Amino acid sequence: MRLTPRKEEVEAVKALLEDPTFESADHMAKAVIKEVGEILQMRDWVALVHTWKDGSRGLNWAPFGNAAEAEAFAKKLSIGGTGRLVKLYAPGVMLANVDGKKGWKGYCFHLECGHAPFTHSSAGTSRGACQIPTCPCDKFRAS
Ligand SMILES: [Zn+2]
Ligand SMILES: [Zn+2]
Repeated sequence: MRLTPRKEEVEAVKALLEDPTFESADHMAKAVIKEVGEILQMRDWVALVHTWKDGSRGLNWAPFGNAAEAEAFAKKLSIGGTGRLVKLYAPGVMLANVDGKKGWKGYCFHLECGHAPFTHSSAGTSRGACQIPTCPCDKFRAS
């Protein structure tokens, strides 16, 4: 899983590492792993979908950070058959559009919002306000 850490990902993990309220290293480690899991759900991945030489459904692998990584893996593998790459979209991004992602780059920084830009109205008197029914956000905040 080849990836370049992004600024907001580093910030999220750093906040946990610098949190003095953890009772033990175990608690902190668990929190970090959960956070990283959530972070990785915010990324798109590539899957390698394999077909055996006789045309039957083969073995599939994922996630890869990009097409080059998946192709390098396929070359090392040499089990025959053919492979193709499939893009996997981030479920976290999809959920964050609905549930919100507070303090996350690209999402609204309004304290109670955290929704995607497109949930904010561009029409008339409600211009800028978030359209998610339960959200009190009145204006999209970029940061
Ligand atoms: Zn909102
Ligand atoms: Zn908002």
